[in-house]
Amino acid sequence: MNITGSCHCGTVRYESTGKVLRFANCHCDDCRKTNGSAYSAAIVVSSDGFRITAGENALTAYESSPGKHRCFCSRCGSPICSRMKAKPEIVILRAGTVDGDLAIRPEMHIFVKAKAPWYDIRDDLPQHPEWAPPK
Ligand SMILES: [Zn+2]
Ligand SMILES: [Zn+2]
Repeated sequence: MNITGSCHCGTVRYESTGKVLRFANCHCDDCRKTNGSAYSAAIVVSSDGFRITAGENALTAYESSPGKHRCFCSRCGSPICSRMKAKPEIVILRAGTVDGDLAIRPEMHIFVKAKAPWYDIRDDLPQHPEWAPPK
């Protein structure tokens, strides 16, 4: 699937042409804090089709937990993607930075046990306390 996205200031641009493996709303503490929101809408894609097409120098990585790097635009702060040392074959995109619509929709909620108490999930998607089992 073809996905293109960019940060708010437009410096960083990316494209993903590989497989989409999962689309999940993650409610974990790390996602809430680093996205400043109730949850992170996260699209897991295969890393072989992913590339930064502009502004690679502006991307800054923050290691939010050992081996997990969250990349954001150093100019505007938009969270762009995460990469895990232990899983180099995947990249996790932040769906809010996608340009235009997607042919896919979120499939599930994950890390619901860490959800913000003030946020109620009001859809019928499956809710997993932590990680969802692999497909
Ligand atoms: Zn930016
Ligand atoms: Zn998370």
